[in-house]
Amino acid sequence: MTLTNLLYFLMLFKRTKTLLSPNTNLVKIPSTAAKFKCHICNKNTTVPFELWDFDKSISSDCKLIKSKPTIGNCLYCKSTVKKTSTTWKNEVSKIYNNYSIYSDSGGSEKVVFDSNQKTQKPRSEVIIETLINKVKLPHNMKILDIGTGSGVFLKAANKNFASASLFGHDINDNFMSELETIPNFKEFFYGNIDTIQTKFELISLIHVLEHVLDPIVFLKQIKTNLTKDGYLIINVPDSENNPIDLAIYDHCTHFQTTTLINVLGKAGFEVSFISNKKIPREIIIIAKIGKYKSISKNNETNFVRKNTAYLKSMYMCANNLRKNFEIDIFGSSLASIWLADQLSEWKGNFVDEDKNKYKKKINGKPIVSPSEVKKETNIFIPLEKEISKAIAKRLSSKNVTYHYTN
Ligand SMILES: [Zn+2]
Repeated sequence: MTLTNLLYFLMLFKRTKTLLSPNTNLVKIPSTAAKFKCHICNKNTTVPFELWDFDKSISSDCKLIKSKPTIGNCLYCKSTVKKTSTTWKNEVSKIYNNYSIYSDSGGSEKVVFDSNQKTQKPRSEVIIETLINKVKLPHNMKILDIGTGSGVFLKAANKNFASASLFGHDINDNFMSELETIPNFKEFFYGNIDTIQTKFELISLIHVLEHVLDPIVFLKQIKTNLTKDGYLIINVPDSENNPIDLAIYDHCTHFQTTTLINVLGKAGFEVSFISNKKIPREIIIIAKIGKYKSISKNNETNFVRKNTAYLKSMYMCANNLRKNFEIDIFGSSLASIWLADQLSEWKGNFVDEDKNKYKKKINGKPIVSPSEVKKETNIFIPLEKEISKAIAKRLSSKNVTYHYTN
């Protein structure tokens, strides 16, 4: 998505009263914690996690942010959220004013690897495949992609739904000429979403909702643009299984499957399909207008604690290695750039398999191919153990040693 002005989301709707009901009438709130306001339920019931002690974070377009976000868990609606203070809003406004689309994947759409880390597909194709397999959509439907950017989702939609009429929405028209080259592209909307009068059989929100300050009001508005039998498809990071998501400054909500279902339910949607496996570390959810079905229980697992511990152990592991030798860092997306920034005076390279990224630099550090690294290089992979193992196995060579967190 391209986001160039936070004001868009801030001004999108007049705040209306949208309160989530707690599971019980009695919500126990510790009296000592300095709680902050949850932007989902509007209650001052969010307890900050004090364990988050990294001084720096990263924007969703991979730029370093020298500011520390406050992250907390709302006791009322159970969401994990950032504190959306004036400081946070100002910082995020700066991020959106200089937003670089798909900078975490060299300017093109993120690719999804299969479980063996071998074959790969663009993210949009995986989402379209999921739609085709899980719900029935009319061939001549109207599709609206909100936060469409350069229209990668609409291009993938056109390949599979050749008769569908395509519509895009974004907060600026930077990609207008590119969108107009997509076959069956009918109309581009920009600015306030509540000015769109058309109804659609399919509306997509690909990596949008985690940025939205008032997701329930936003989804209620979108509902008015959906036909009675239409579907909404949402793709967001799966924060529970994606530790680096906590470090992404402009993500104000850290969704888990359970909290996403609850937010959709409160906006008047029922879930037709949900998966956090189709795209590793991301959630895909297909919903339609319906009644909120209470899920058996809110997942209160404290994933922030687990994920913060994971990021800390990754940092410690990489930092310990540097006592003996300098390391290169595998990858050049969010986790890699964040780790590089945490390591003081790191002088290595980013090692990446994506040839679109070669000869580019990130914060002055070159991106090189695995075949280009010098003899006896030590490469640290800032990913989960199983994925790291698969990568190390696939790229094993006499020249290099791969390291990762156990
Ligand atoms: Zn809340």
